[in-house]
Amino acid sequence: MAASVLKKVVIEKINEVAAVLMQKGTLIAPVKEEAGANFREIKDPKDIYLDYYNSILSPKMVFFPQMEDFVKYQLAKPKADAKIVEMNLKPAFLFGVRPCDVKSFEILDKHFYASGIIDTYWKARRDNTTIIGYAFDLDKPVDSADFYNTLGIGAADPEGSDIFIVKKDKELLLKGITKKGEALLGELSMLEKADAKDEKYFTDYVKKGKEKKTRFMKVDDKAVAKKYEDIFENNEYWTKMSDACLSCGVCTFVCPTCYCFDICDETIFGKGTRRRIWDACMFTDFTLETSGHNPRTKVSQRLRQKVCHKYSFSVRKYDVISCVGCGRCTRSCPVNIDIYSMVEEATKL
Ligand code: SF4
Ligand code: SF4
Repeated sequence: MAASVLKKVVIEKINEVAAVLMQKGTLIAPVKEEAGANFREIKDPKDIYLDYYNSILSPKMVFFPQMEDFVKYQLAKPKADAKIVEMNLKPAFLFGVRPCDVKSFEILDKHFYASGIIDTYWKARRDNTTIIGYAFDLDKPVDSADFYNTLGIGAADPEGSDIFIVKKDKELLLKGITKKGEALLGELSMLEKADAKDEKYFTDYVKKGKEKKTRFMKVDDKAVAKKYEDIFENNEYWTKMSDACLSCGVCTFVCPTCYCFDICDETIFGKGTRRRIWDACMFTDFTLETSGHNPRTKVSQRLRQKVCHKYSFSVRKYDVISCVGCGRCTRSCPVNIDIYSMVEEATKL
């Protein structure tokens, strides 16, 4: 089997790479915003912010926007007059994604199409997008909220990306991981061929990424899933864990593996739109039924749903923990609730 392609470029020339990708389709990359970095469509290559740690919002919104219109219609007009809102698909390049977030796409693929029921919106965007992963900087300290390595994800894992980037001093090394990625590298004429030293640097970096520690517990998916089955009715544990929770839902909105949504209709002056919007199991009315009954009135029940969904139900249904240890929920929680600590405490029961 032929070795995969490794190319390199000096960091200043990333603008040239970006310009070519923008000609080919939509380029989405981290940009610096007031509150921190986020993935946005790039209009000016100078906006790309490569020195970021991780984004505040997860890049899942590229495939699953926070709000998306499906159908436009007019009240009192026949159903046949309703218009489907086209997705306006163009090739997209998602640039600079951290390995834990790349892993989250694979987990959501299981839910959005691999289990047999296909969400055409998610699938079409996934198929249309080239993922350009980017290793964490191993010389910088990890954020204290992160715990991806405890779930078996390395700081420089190339799997799941089409192209994977490792920074080497003032250069970027770009490795073609899939055929799609290799083909794209071949079209970027400003890239230089890497030499044997670069190859070694890349290989060693991936290996060192596996050894980089975020936190220290080794999470065993089957054992933790069983533990949460066993302590599902342990009200003392769930009440203690959720004591400070405000039910604000931020943890779910920033999470790369949360996927709950609602479909709603909005009508005004006789015109209607049917759209999908993100929803969150941490909201008080998430399970409110039209009868007025709500099976999850307590915050402890809602937090239990979120944690058990990720660490138990997902293992049972998809054979994978639906969490990548990105630390976003902990960083964003106004009362510092930390899902890793919850799991750690559960394992001691
Ligand atoms: S639960 Fe928290 S740590 Fe896990 S993937 Fe979601 S935001 Fe990241
Ligand atoms: S962000 Fe914190 S306070 Fe808000 S719902 Fe999540 S756990 Fe509760």
